Amino acid sequence: MIKTIIFPGRYVQGSGSLDEAGKFIAPLGKKVLVVWDSIVNKMFSERLEASIKKADAEIFSFVFSGECSRNQKDIGIQKAQALKADVVVGVGGGKAIDLAKAIAFNTNAHMVSLPTVASNDAPTSSCSVYYTDDGVLDGFDVWPRNPDMVLADSQIIANAPVRWLVSGIGDALATWFEAEAAFKGRRPAFAGGVPTMTAMSLARLCYETLMAYGIDAKMDAENHVVTPALEKIIEANILLSGIGWESGGLATAHTLGNGLSILECTHPYSHGEKVAFGLVTQLCLDDDIDPQERLDVVDFMVELGLPVSFAELGMAKLAKDELMKAAVALTEPGNFLHNHVFTVSALDLFSAMVKADALGSSRKKLLK
Ligand SMILES: [Zn+2]
Repeated sequence: MIKTIIFPGRYVQGSGSLDEAGKFIAPLGKKVLVVWDSIVNKMFSERLEASIKKADAEIFSFVFSGECSRNQKDIGIQKAQALKADVVVGVGGGKAIDLAKAIAFNTNAHMVSLPTVASNDAPTSSCSVYYTDDGVLDGFDVWPRNPDMVLADSQIIANAPVRWLVSGIGDALATWFEAEAAFKGRRPAFAGGVPTMTAMSLARLCYETLMAYGIDAKMDAENHVVTPALEKIIEANILLSGIGWESGGLATAHTLGNGLSILECTHPYSHGEKVAFGLVTQLCLDDDIDPQERLDVVDFMVELGLPVSFAELGMAKLAKDELMKAAVALTEPGNFLHNHVFTVSALDLFSAMVKADALGSSRKKLLK
């Protein structure tokens, strides 16, 4: 039984770290290609340029369309090759970062993630998820290594709309429960082996940090101030959750988080929001969950404003047979929910989703 864990090469976090970025990037290479969309470019190019130039490195820009598509990847690769870039930096959300990874690993350049929101696990991971130019999911690539560095400026994350921080908490909250579920059956994680003690304890630390500081951090992000609570949640959302899922394992929460996109009504909702409802479903599916802990987690999600019911994911009007059809698709072989030690049928998943909706709705009513 082979155990393995993978990490980004360096993690940097703090208010104003964008202005220090050059100091950390320059040792990796002196020709830096930055991937960002036009909005992010306008917001941060002056500061990043100044910081990289101060470190005696050159900066070039690739303003991409906003979609991490295979077409955009090809354009970016050509640009990186023409410039002989030795570092590719992705600045923005998951799509800019995933595109920067694809360009860097196809041109043998170093790769740096510079997330401007703490909403998902893209910054630390070794894969890129593609969409078509029209925004439809189009597969993924796994790279031989993780980003060389992740640099998170806490003030930039505090200034972003709070919905993204809360979505990141939804994504990260599932990490421990999914890693534990997969570990019970010693299922290999995305990293390519059974989880190490290190991955499991980082996943647990992620969960405990979120439960202790999540509500405080949301309040602070609403006021756009960086506090110790917000710093802890940024680290949990980006670093702990990133290592925890990739080297710990996935289960039902991410089957729904990724798979609910087959239902068009869920398209306006973020990855983390769908994972959140997926977690409630997982907690209703697994009979090894402590009922009190399940209530504590659901109540925490209600307080944060994460979706815990069909209505909050646009699924209120979904007919029973459509939900059953989705459950059949989500229990096809190869889905992460088969990492549980017990078998999950389409009917089991259907029942767990209905139960999750009923539980979430009733806790929401009670806590109003
Ligand atoms: Zn996720």
